[in-house]
Amino acid sequence: MENNKHLLTMSILASPNMANFSGVVHGGEILKLLDQVAYACATRYCGVGVVTLAVDQVLFRHPIPIGSLMHFYASINFTGNTSCEVGIRTEYEDLKTQKRIHCNSAYFTMIALNEKKQKVQIPPFVPQNEEQKRRFQEAKERREKRFG
Ligand code: GDP
Repeated sequence: MENNKHLLTMSILASPNMANFSGVVHGGEILKLLDQVAYACATRYCGVGVVTLAVDQVLFRHPIPIGSLMHFYASINFTGNTSCEVGIRTEYEDLKTQKRIHCNSAYFTMIALNEKKQKVQIPPFVPQNEEQKRRFQEAKERREKRFG
């Protein structure tokens, strides 16, 4: 069986308590959910707890209507020694028509920590197919831009 430990999918209903004054999902709410998805994806991959070091890009392409179903597709794109990049593609689905809209892409860098809060080594992610290789390279470039 293929090992899909680097992949995670979460779906959450956009409920009225998530609304902003315009009646769509609040941007802060989306950020919180994205951070939780990144936490879940990286923790499962690393096998230890993680914390967020950086968020590289969050582009709100489309407002998310209340009542729609948000789908978060997360994947480990890159691993360094003690940090990794989790990419998340967000789509929302109109439940009545099943139409899906790509509304957000984000890239989180997470650090793996043991119980003593010391950084620990992460199992290296080796990209297998062309898409993984492209994402790996793009993650590396984002990291180089950030740290110089
Ligand atoms: P990309 O980074 O240029 O490929 O842009 P996308 O918006 O398509 O995806 C953003 C990130 O979400 C990717 O870098 C992946 O980490 C993750 N991702 C995209 N598609 C999928 C998918 O089908 N499943 C999972 N688990 N993750 C995905």
